[in-house]
Amino acid sequence: MLDEAITYSLRNIQADSGQYYQNIASFTDEVLDKAASLEPLKRNFQASLSPSGLSRDPLEIPFELLLLGTIWRVYGGRALSLSTLPRLALTGLSNLRDGVPSLKRGIDGLRGILETLFLSPFHSLELFQPTLPHLDALLGWLSATGEFKQEVSRFRDWRNYWGSLSPTKAGEEMEAVLGFASWFEDRCEQVLGSYTLPLERFLEEKYPKYRWREDLIACGRKRVEYHANMVGAEILNRAYREAFLRQPKREVLLPSCMCNHPEQCRAKESPLGLRCTGCDSDCRVHQLRNAGAKKGFGVILMKHQSSLFRGWPAGEIAIVGVACVSTLIGGGLKAKASSIPAQCVLLDHCGCRSHWHESGIKTDINLAELYHLLEIDDLKESA
Ligand code: SF4
Ligand code: SF4
Repeated sequence: MLDEAITYSLRNIQADSGQYYQNIASFTDEVLDKAASLEPLKRNFQASLSPSGLSRDPLEIPFELLLLGTIWRVYGGRALSLSTLPRLALTGLSNLRDGVPSLKRGIDGLRGILETLFLSPFHSLELFQPTLPHLDALLGWLSATGEFKQEVSRFRDWRNYWGSLSPTKAGEEMEAVLGFASWFEDRCEQVLGSYTLPLERFLEEKYPKYRWREDLIACGRKRVEYHANMVGAEILNRAYREAFLRQPKREVLLPSCMCNHPEQCRAKESPLGLRCTGCDSDCRVHQLRNAGAKKGFGVILMKHQSSLFRGWPAGEIAIVGVACVSTLIGGGLKAKASSIPAQCVLLDHCGCRSHWHESGIKTDINLAELYHLLEIDDLKESA
């Protein structure tokens, strides 16, 4: 399997990804134990939140700290090289792209050029410090990429919290978060490193060809970011589980890379999104649609994350979102921001033609994990 994998494989050398789900559950326990050392910081942060802001499950706090610390360590230096004008131009274009989908193509071309000139990893890096100005630079850089919208809106609450403390106290707390992320980077390499080995080769051999492309940042994520997203997905599943179980109407959101032939797919528009019409009995999406008809869940094919949940009724539907490691977390946070209880399943590997492979590789998920999340027991009858 590793030979076929482009960036990661949850199957590793096994026949399926069952072992991965056992490993990620026990490693997440370890990460949460380690995060307990940040307890006073977590309590003070939660007490500082405005009642009208985003409410958080207690588990979302260590998740945010893990993500913030990891992302800061990866991009903190690069963020200091970005000046105001390109930052504003890139952020404006990213917002316009989401607001006016018909302009996407033209904007993507322009963003590819600007990203390569101003955000690319090929720039020399500067050293950053755990200070508010350097955190502001990071948030500005992340906004300019257009890839971290949900994360940035949460990190802004942390910025405001640290802004309310003395510079010394805020600096100590930010340093502790970066220390937690540093521990994570070392430890996750031992536990999860075998799943992301292919990413090293991808970044070295294929990634340089992503210059001038709009997905330059999205496809250049580092191994530690993949590992943080893997643990993050497990934490969010735990955090949102009860809300998900309370909601009887369930939809499974599948990415187009799971179709047998995405370019000729005959799925039709519906109020919630694209519905499979069953043109190919070998297509995994079709099989899941049939299983859902028997077991009481719907299946929707996703187009773009920017239009995800647009027009959905709040509080009526729970979802299981499926995506590859580099894109899943943004979708999960967007579901929370849209008041949609969510669970998630990672693709066993990535493979779409738009981002990862010249002709596209069909992707799949661990069905046992999906049915476990949906509380379906009789796997054989359902698949
Ligand atoms: S079976 Fe469904 S999802 Fe698969 S290609 Fe046909 S319409 Fe699209
Ligand atoms: S491989 Fe990832 S980015 Fe591509 S369609 Fe599938 S989930 Fe989306």
